[in-house]
Amino acid sequence: MQKMAEEFWRSIPAIKNVFKPDAKPEVHIANAATDDRRYYVPFTDTVSSRPLWISPSQNRWADILRADGPGLVNRHYHPHEVFAFTLSGKWSYLEHDWIATAGDFVYETPGESHTLVAHHHPDPMLVHFNVKGPLIWLDDQGNSIGHFDVHDYIALARAHYEKVGLGAGYVDTLFR
Ligand code: FE
Repeated sequence: MQKMAEEFWRSIPAIKNVFKPDAKPEVHIANAATDDRRYYVPFTDTVSSRPLWISPSQNRWADILRADGPGLVNRHYHPHEVFAFTLSGKWSYLEHDWIATAGDFVYETPGESHTLVAHHHPDPMLVHFNVKGPLIWLDDQGNSIGHFDVHDYIALARAHYEKVGLGAGYVDTLFR
């Protein structure tokens, strides 16, 4: 039997003044990629998003993107960067030849257009995204036909959380 390593840091004192006076509290969300579907805001017909962190002033958000079967987020353009880390399932962009599965990291460069698809997989597609908005929706000629930014995201999430009984105000707890 292996001996349990000692937690050598137990005697180190924690910092007393953790937050500057104007700093906002940290965030800890247990089981962020929960299976409780109420937390997932329908984003398209087949893909939903659980917001984890929302910054209205930076037009930025972090979420868990989920699909429980083949899914689609229609073609769009990103003027800013996006980071993604895959927790489960299988997904890709029609425009690239790689396919992401659990453990895969993706960086979408500013100035990139793509179409997100969730593939068949025994597990749901669960991806942690860190997005700087807006998404610019494109038609099949690549022309701009609309946008989706942090304010659209907030409005969508408020309406959904009110409808499922969590309350619209839940969204405000995620603002930083
Ligand atoms: Fe995208």
